[in-house]
Amino acid sequence: MLPVVLTLLSLAMPARGAPPPVPRPDSRRQRDTLTPIERALIRHVDRHNAEGLELLQRLVDINSGTMNFPGVQEVGAVLRAELDALGFATRWEDGAPYHRAGHLIAERTGKGRKLLLIGHLDTVFERESPFQQFEKLDSTHARGPGVIDMKGGDVIVVQALKALKAAGALDRMSLTAVFHGDEEHAGEPQALARRALIEAAKGAAAAIAFEDGDGDPATAVAARRGSSSWLLQVTGTPAHSSQIFREDIGPGAIFEAARILQGFREKLTGDPLLTFNPGVALGGTAVSLDSAQVKGEAAGKSNVVAERMVVSGDLRTISPEKLAWARTEMRAIAAAHLPRTTAQIDFDDGYPPMPPTEGNQRLLALYDRVSRDLGYGPVGMDNPAKAGAADVSFVAGIVPMAIDGIGLAGTDDHTAKETADLAALPMQVKRAAVLLYRLGAPELRPPD
Ligand SMILES: [Zn+2]
Repeated sequence: MLPVVLTLLSLAMPARGAPPPVPRPDSRRQRDTLTPIERALIRHVDRHNAEGLELLQRLVDINSGTMNFPGVQEVGAVLRAELDALGFATRWEDGAPYHRAGHLIAERTGKGRKLLLIGHLDTVFERESPFQQFEKLDSTHARGPGVIDMKGGDVIVVQALKALKAAGALDRMSLTAVFHGDEEHAGEPQALARRALIEAAKGAAAAIAFEDGDGDPATAVAARRGSSSWLLQVTGTPAHSSQIFREDIGPGAIFEAARILQGFREKLTGDPLLTFNPGVALGGTAVSLDSAQVKGEAAGKSNVVAERMVVSGDLRTISPEKLAWARTEMRAIAAAHLPRTTAQIDFDDGYPPMPPTEGNQRLLALYDRVSRDLGYGPVGMDNPAKAGAADVSFVAGIVPMAIDGIGLAGTDDHTAKETADLAALPMQVKRAAVLLYRLGAPELRPPD
């Protein structure tokens, strides 16, 4: 698996903040390869693009920071009304069991293969944030909280489904859409917060997530690294500092923790898709770390050999196998602690990895084909070293194929400069609609 990934890593990495322009469709190419229904989808998207932009502005203007539950629910209600009108059976799952607003789940059953669509309602901009409104910058750019992450992607889902409905394809399709209310700050326990998504993935032929990708319309996400955490706890033998390193005293907790961390670095570096980072470290005579808040206190004296050290960090890998390997190595390094010290490392599951499986590559190839047929040019794999963990990862091990990052292009998500490339909206909606149609209503399309 690794050689595949490494060759894909050589794909150009566009500079953040300067996305390539939206490709102009080649209309002759379109005429040659698209079916009448696919051409109807395209016409519908173009005619109704203004409605999509209005919906985007409306959604962005509702604050839905993850912890602003009424705001998240309001965004959910707007989308729910759109999906109700398209004949979906919709429900709101109360998020109280996992201390969040909840999720919107919409289902529609037909004869086609079941497809899972993934979106989210929340943003990183809470009510206190100064960044609250949709603001048009020029004819093709707008700034706003969540405009690309990912209210733009949610609008792409709605607009694509409307086109499918108008073209008469939706009735044949089986679709489940899950819009999380807590993507940016997932609820706990995670098993409850992600239960609906995992249930929805069962029996699905594909999962398609509409997060903003890297801003380049020529890439999509077929692999994401998982993210999990670890906690290293080291103890030493307290003594007067003048006796440090004596055989019966040892190096103390801080030196030993440093030695172990250096051991991680020596053993685990070298694979660009495997990273580990100690994020907070506290050492001294007495330490207390609140792992949930990732903060704590430490007290010690320069003339006392440190008795305790705790280090909390993350670990990101591209596959479950690599994760297991890294954990085994880290455990072995901690277990080989020096005399007069103890060391223990514990791991917590976070987001599972989404490896670049054959299925994911196949779905990416389908999307690439759709893009070429629409005249928008090829789509390759986004560099997994850049993509953070996301909700699609929870179902990547359940569905035969999954793709992400086909939302609205733009720049600077998670910052007060978050900006959408509005010119990309119709392109992304068309690509999504034709992809869903080819995947979910295959009996309507003549064989190639
Ligand atoms: Zn997002």
